Amino acid sequence: MSPPLLQVNDLKKHFPVKKGLFQRKSEWVYAVDGVSFEIARGETLSLVGESGCGKSTVGRAILRLFDITSGQVILDGQRIDDAHPSTMRQMRRRVQVVFQDPFSSLNPRMRVRDILAEPIRNFGLAKSAEDLEVRVTALMDTVRLPREALNRRPHEFSGGQRQRIGIARALAAEPELIVCDEAVSALDVSVKAQIVNLLQDLQREFGLALLFISHDLAIVEHMTHRVAVMYLGKMVEVAPRREIFAAPRHPYTRALLSAVPLPEPGAHRNPIILKGDVPSPINPPKGCRFHTRCPLVFDRCRTEEPTLRAVGGEQWVACHLEDGAAVANG
Ligand code: SF4
Repeated sequence: MSPPLLQVNDLKKHFPVKKGLFQRKSEWVYAVDGVSFEIARGETLSLVGESGCGKSTVGRAILRLFDITSGQVILDGQRIDDAHPSTMRQMRRRVQVVFQDPFSSLNPRMRVRDILAEPIRNFGLAKSAEDLEVRVTALMDTVRLPREALNRRPHEFSGGQRQRIGIARALAAEPELIVCDEAVSALDVSVKAQIVNLLQDLQREFGLALLFISHDLAIVEHMTHRVAVMYLGKMVEVAPRREIFAAPRHPYTRALLSAVPLPEPGAHRNPIILKGDVPSPINPPKGCRFHTRCPLVFDRCRTEEPTLRAVGGEQWVACHLEDGAAVANG
C-alpha cells in the first residue's frame, strides 16, 4: 500500500483567552485536542460535526495559518508543522484551500485574470508570458467559466461562479490536496450540487485529495470516500462513507445522521434529539466529552476518556460501549 499523502498525528491547537484590564492569558480554548487521521492520494475525507467542534481549526492547522500547540502534520513523508520557510513555500503550493465565502476571499479590485495569474507567478510555474496566458485560460475551461470573463472582477459574478473562480485559483498552484472549508455551505441547493460535481470531476482528472470540511451531511453522503466525525475538539468516529451512513456506531454520529433527510420523497429517519448544548471548549467535560449529552451514558463515561479504536474493517470509534467489559461496568 502506498504511504498516505497527508498524515495528522495527535494534533492539538489550544488558543489563549485573554481577560481583564491587562489582557493576561487566563484560560485556554481546547479547539482541537488530539486528532489523528490520514488522507490517501485522490481520496476525499470529510470532516464533519457541529459548529465549534474544531473541524475548521484542523483545516487551518494543515494550511499552517497558525502554529499548532503540539502534534505532527506530515505531507508526503515531510513534516510541515515545523518546516523551514524555504520548504514551506513548496508545501504551500501542494496544499491549497477553497473557503466558504468566495467574495471575501477574492480581492474585489483584481480582475479574474490577475487572481488566477498570482499563484502561477508566486510559485514560478509559468515558463513565459505565453505559458501564463495558456494556463489562465485553461483554468477557466477547467472550472467551466467563459474565457471572456477573465477581464471581469469578482462582484460581476454569481455566488456559484465566484466559487468556481476560488477553485480555479486553488488549481492554479497545481496542488495535490485541497482543503474545502465549508466550500459549498453558502450556496443554493442546485448550485451546491454543481460545485460538488465539479470538485468530483476535478478530483478524477487531477488525482486530487480533498479534505472536505462541512456540517452538511446530505452533501457529504453524496461525494465522500470516508467520513471523520468530530465533537468538542476530538474525533469520535472515522469510517468509509457506506459503513458510517448504513451503520453509525458512535451515539453522537447516530444523532447527527438521524437528522439527514432521506432522498426518497416522504421517507424519514427517526430523529435522535440531543439534550442540552455543546459544552464550552474552555472547560470540556472530563471522561468522554460527549457524556453530558449522550443518551447511553454510564458511570465509566464520566471519568475515563474513550480512545479511538478499530471496531471492524476500516471503522474506528471512540466509545466505551465498543468495549464489551464497559457495558458490564455500566
Ligand atoms: Fe456515550 Fe459513554 Fe460512549 Fe461517550 S463513551 S459516547 S458517553 S456511551
